[in-house]
This record gives sequence, structure tokens and C-alpha cells, in this order.
Amino acid sequence: MVDQEKIKKAVEMLLDGIGEDKDREGLKDTPDRIARMYTEIFAGMDENPGTHLSRTFTATGSDMVLEKDITFYSMCEHHMMPFYGKAHIAYIPDGKVVGISKLARTVEVYARRLQLQERLCDQIADALFKELKPKGVMVMLEAEHMCMTMRGIKKPGTKTVTVSKRGDFADDDRLQDTFFNMLSR
Ligand code: ZN
Repeated sequence: MVDQEKIKKAVEMLLDGIGEDKDREGLKDTPDRIARMYTEIFAGMDENPGTHLSRTFTATGSDMVLEKDITFYSMCEHHMMPFYGKAHIAYIPDGKVVGISKLARTVEVYARRLQLQERLCDQIADALFKELKPKGVMVMLEAEHMCMTMRGIKKPGTKTVTVSKRGDFADDDRLQDTFFNMLSR
């Protein structure tokens, strides 16, 4: 659980540290505001994606299910700055499918934590592979990292792309091509 009191104290120190007057009008409620906001953006800490993925439906003969352009927001663990973009998820069911909204839920559970894009991508793929037991899973994330675009090398619009493949997708180039073809439509 997020400890709001600790976050409030930390933000007060942070304001002090950057030379601000934490008591001035505009900042007086900032520690409290951030504490409440963090409760929301780190809500995934206490969540297990299995709860969203356990309700499955029987399906026969589905080739590939692709859910693309799932918007996500996460926080980079190196700088505690946002990174955000789109997730694309494909899987090949082995008799079981899951409601489309549950894929977005799974992304959300892992995005609402301090993250690395590579790990976020892997965790989504692993959760689907474990819970749905499909023949294969492929996850692609495209994201802009504020720690890269707002500071440092400052290249706005630069996207970091990560891919995680499990099962049949891992060693079948044609399946991977199908995934990329479906994405570009
Ligand atoms: Zn960063």
C-alpha cells in the first residue's frame, strides 16, 4: 500500500531541496496532491493480473487475436518520470480466450508501478502466457520517455520499441511477420 504520509513528507523535503518555499500559496497543497496522485498511478503495486485473466471463454478455431493501440502510462524507475505510449498484444488461443478489456487491464496492472519498458513488456507477455495458456503470445510496446525528451539528449518524439515473444511466436518468423502486418493496417 502507498503510504501517503511518507510521500507528503518526502515532497516537502523535495520542495525544500530545490529551494522553494513550501508554504507559499501555490505549493501549500502540493504534497497532499502528489500523495493522492501517487496512490492512483502506483495502484498496480497491490494488484495481481491473474484476477483479471482468470475469467476465460471457450473458443474454437481462433487463429490470432490482436488488440492494438492500448494506451498506457507508466513511470520510469530510473528517473520517476512518465513514459507512455501504445501496447499491442497478440495471442494464439488454445481453446481459451479472454475478454478484450482484460488485456488492457493487464497492461494497466503492470504499468501502474515503477517500471522499465523492457520489464513491463515481459511481464505482460508472461502473465498472458501463464494465465491463458495460449499457443503463443507477442507483445510490443512503443513509448516516449520523458526522461529522454525533456532532459538529457532532448529528442522529442523519439520512441522506444520493445518486443516480447512467448511460445509459437518465439521461433516462428512467419507468425511474427503476421503480427507486424496486422499492426501496420
Ligand atoms: Zn528514465
